Amino acid sequence: MNVNQSAPPVPPFGQPQPVYAGYHQSSYGGQPGSTAAPTPYGAYNGPLPGYQQTPPPGVSRAPASSGAPPASTAQGPCGQTAYGQFGQGDVQNGPSSGVQMQRLPGSQPFASAPLAPVVSQPAVLQPYGPPPTSAQVTAQLAGMQISGAVAPAPPASGLGYGPPTSLASASGSFPNSGLYGSYPQGQAPPLGQGHPGAQPPQRSVPPQASSFTSPASGGPRMPSMTGPLLPGQSFGGPPVSQPNHVSSPPPQALPPGTQMTGPPGPPPPMHSSQQPGYQLQQNGSFGPARGPQSNYGSPYPGAATFGSQPGPPQPLPPKRLDPDAIPSPIQVIEDDRNNRGSEPFATGVRGQVPPLVTTNFLVKDQGNASPRYIRCTSYNIPCTSDMAKQAQVPLAAVIKPLARLPPEEASPYVVDHGESGPLRCNRCKAYMCPFMQFVEGGRRFQCCFCSCINDVPPQYFQHLDHTGKRVDAYDRPELSLGSYEFLATVDYCKNNKFPIPPAFIFMIDVSYNAVRSGLVRLLCEELKSLLDFLPREGGAEESAIRVGFVTYNKVLHFYNVKSSLAQPQMMVVSDVSDMFVPLLDGFLVNVSESRAVITSLLDQIPEMFADTRETETVFAPVIQAGMEALKAAECAGKLFLFHTSLPIAEAPGKLKNRDDRKLINTDKEKTLFQPQSGAYQTLAKECVAQGCCVDLFLFPNQYVDVATLSVVPQLTGGSVYKYACFQVENDQERFLSDLRRDVQKVVGFDAVMRVRTSTGIRAVDFFGAFYMSNTTDVELAGLDGDKTVTVEFKHDDRLNEENGALLQCALLYTSCAGQRRLRIHNLALNCCTQLADLYRNCETDTLINYMAKFAYRGVLSSPVKTVRDTLITQCAQILACYRKNCASPSSAGQLILPECMKLLPVYLNCVLKSEVLQPGAEVTTDDRAYVRQLVTSMDVAETNVFFYPRLLPLTKSPIENTTEPPAVRASEERLSNGDIYLLENGLNLFLWVGASVQQGVVQSVFGVSSFSQITSGLSVLPVLDNLLSKKVRGLIDSLRAQRSRYMKLIVVKQEDKLEMLFKHFLVEDKSLSGGASYVDFLCHMHKEIRQLLS
Ligand SMILES: [Zn+2]
Repeated sequence: MNVNQSAPPVPPFGQPQPVYAGYHQSSYGGQPGSTAAPTPYGAYNGPLPGYQQTPPPGVSRAPASSGAPPASTAQGPCGQTAYGQFGQGDVQNGPSSGVQMQRLPGSQPFASAPLAPVVSQPAVLQPYGPPPTSAQVTAQLAGMQISGAVAPAPPASGLGYGPPTSLASASGSFPNSGLYGSYPQGQAPPLGQGHPGAQPPQRSVPPQASSFTSPASGGPRMPSMTGPLLPGQSFGGPPVSQPNHVSSPPPQALPPGTQMTGPPGPPPPMHSSQQPGYQLQQNGSFGPARGPQSNYGSPYPGAATFGSQPGPPQPLPPKRLDPDAIPSPIQVIEDDRNNRGSEPFATGVRGQVPPLVTTNFLVKDQGNASPRYIRCTSYNIPCTSDMAKQAQVPLAAVIKPLARLPPEEASPYVVDHGESGPLRCNRCKAYMCPFMQFVEGGRRFQCCFCSCINDVPPQYFQHLDHTGKRVDAYDRPELSLGSYEFLATVDYCKNNKFPIPPAFIFMIDVSYNAVRSGLVRLLCEELKSLLDFLPREGGAEESAIRVGFVTYNKVLHFYNVKSSLAQPQMMVVSDVSDMFVPLLDGFLVNVSESRAVITSLLDQIPEMFADTRETETVFAPVIQAGMEALKAAECAGKLFLFHTSLPIAEAPGKLKNRDDRKLINTDKEKTLFQPQSGAYQTLAKECVAQGCCVDLFLFPNQYVDVATLSVVPQLTGGSVYKYACFQVENDQERFLSDLRRDVQKVVGFDAVMRVRTSTGIRAVDFFGAFYMSNTTDVELAGLDGDKTVTVEFKHDDRLNEENGALLQCALLYTSCAGQRRLRIHNLALNCCTQLADLYRNCETDTLINYMAKFAYRGVLSSPVKTVRDTLITQCAQILACYRKNCASPSSAGQLILPECMKLLPVYLNCVLKSEVLQPGAEVTTDDRAYVRQLVTSMDVAETNVFFYPRLLPLTKSPIENTTEPPAVRASEERLSNGDIYLLENGLNLFLWVGASVQQGVVQSVFGVSSFSQITSGLSVLPVLDNLLSKKVRGLIDSLRAQRSRYMKLIVVKQEDKLEMLFKHFLVEDKSLSGGASYVDFLCHMHKEIRQLLS
């Protein structure tokens, strides 16, 4: 038995935590109560023999990421707008016929060269024969040049060569910018009125504060609530949210009149307690809804006019809904930061809702997994499925098993149980965790998931203290922490053999497009240094990962880079229909051993293909080749594919251009998201079996069918990056930054994830980048620290309040160094018999993450409109159920939202307006497929900012103040034309400049003397030696550092053409593609809710 004592990771273990006592209750096996709970903790306050500052043998920290330098944040000339290649959706793909004719003479350059290197043909299996010499490689080069001379270089394939900069492309692609130019003031419907100053929301003094007064108070405004309402007009005052969030007591006293609690009557309790087991509200509002319901009968007359049409004359003075009076994301985020950002979040309390993802907070693991690993839609689950169905609140967890932690937080301990391996329940196979209950003096334990009584193996035996807790509980991570790792035994390995370290294979498109854009040269140059920063484990001096290289167009070139060679050797496989790997020895090598040969290869590749005329590419055979190479080497690994065009060359997985924007808004729209060939799913399945993860870097000049090309990355846990109209001068910083981060990040390979639950609920649905061959095991060829898996749960039995519900996520994976490990995350949730408890403990950001993923998967099989309607209906049902069962009685005219969900409408509207569900004219089919694919793996923080971008005013705060300024709401009326703003959504970054901004500011930031001299579309700010310049550039760097992908800056001037692009991100406004404004959508939701209640 190895020593497993370890320092407790967080000091607070030493503090008595009464709330923790909840776990001791008889709920887990009839142990005595928790009256003496402080005692075991007390042990930590004094010296403890096993208490060590450094982990003892057998317990070690999981490796930190390699000590590689961070990806550069220097600003370079990047050319792409956003992730999109706006405006190129209609360009036909494929080379012109002329191109193909020109290609003929030289299409077989490798085979026809007199001294061609080994050409591996399937019929002649001589790949391992005499390798070609470096001279042959040279001859190859010569052969290419010769053939290159035969025919003139082809034109760019197709019509899609981008304009010099993507910005031009973007701006030029808007069908009629003049039309849009007239939009802002005139059409932004109810929002724009009465807010000329564009001030940030002054929530404390809403002009219509009186409307907060409860209808029940009989205020004189009441008539407006009972009469028919019109869209865009007041529905009886601003929505009221119920302050029942467990953790968000109103931060500051609300001014008189701003009664956030809605109706007076019996006052709703203002819970400030953070303990589980909330008291029910005593105001009777939980019973069957009474009085108000009778009012719901009046139908909402605006049903047919949802949107912005003027309604019939209103007898009452029209009351515009004040944008400042509706729930503000900014206010909620600020409040949470103020309330919860200062204290660490300790995970010892069951069912505690964590701070928002937008709040900076530290986590102390006290027995439940950190919210960085798992976030739930609700931390209090209805006891019965009937209740769950009634509420319609999806029960889901967003799990990020390998999440990176801030430096202040400890990585999970690695526990080594030696040959016996981790201790598990015999019946359900759950792993030992803090919730297992030891009984019979410690000789047995009862499983907290299935209640099975298991024997404790002799080597694991330990006495119990008088509270029934093992005396070594706090020396063992698996008995005291929410997250930890076990070293796996050989039983957990494929073929009962310990894995060998994984490999990275770089597979570079060297067709005409790739060479011409400068990509090949840039990439080869970068790899020379980047290979020194492959992920390492712990204190390892160098990475255990081996590397290999392939280049390809319509044939594949493998390279032998064995350290004993003076020069690399190329082997060509031109029969791509039955791909195999022509060499084993010398293909995958250790970087430091083969450095000279690798460097030589990377120097030669750009030269070898400099004059290529080959425009066609293959794709599936490339992945096949990489996967076969890993299979031959008997290891897992990752393929890095750098690809430029639709693979139209004759080969398996050959694709045709099937883009058709006419399908949008038809029942066939779903086909745009579906892969056009089943071959890729089959290929992905093989990759998963081999632990072959595929990361795809796309550099398209036109439609490349992202929906199909991303199938393998998606199913293997890989990432897709897209750089439309790639130009080195514009895009290298973004690409290199992404590449560096991607190559360096720690990855787990050949992984299987299983989520176990305590009796009563079970995992029924999964969303993310992975493959599943059965209903329970999530198979991940690779999994990195950015990827999340969203899991939905359903009831299969009754839960009870006392026991709560438990989740255990177990991830079996191979580390970067080839170690087989199990990472375990545990989370205990509360269960409730009152719906109000559910609504009090929800997390809207996580709900939106789930709903977006659900909807984005839905578009594969259902018309987009159906998907949108489903979302709206579900949201309305959730809110109607609250209104009916939980809210204090009030007028039907009043929209009452649960405090925890008061942002659900605004965020849901953002999802509905997103590219995938409501594309604007400028969004290409590939953009939509790309975003759909990205969102599938996003964590909660990423979906939050992606759907509701952050808009930061830069000149409102004192210039010396370099901290991030408070954001303002994403609406045009919040923009002051005397200011500059940054807007980011995790993928895009804009700097918006108001037309009346002070000349001094212009000079300081842009180095020019007037607004008119600022270059629209600028992507790099000049480095100027003044405070404001430093502040702005520092803030940009800081925003980039927070995101997993490099955001290219685009400078947008007010009233400029590019502003149309920018306005797409002002999500509270009505969108150009028809998306509703926040105010309109809220009215619409209210109507839906009333209909449900009537
Ligand atoms: Zn069990």
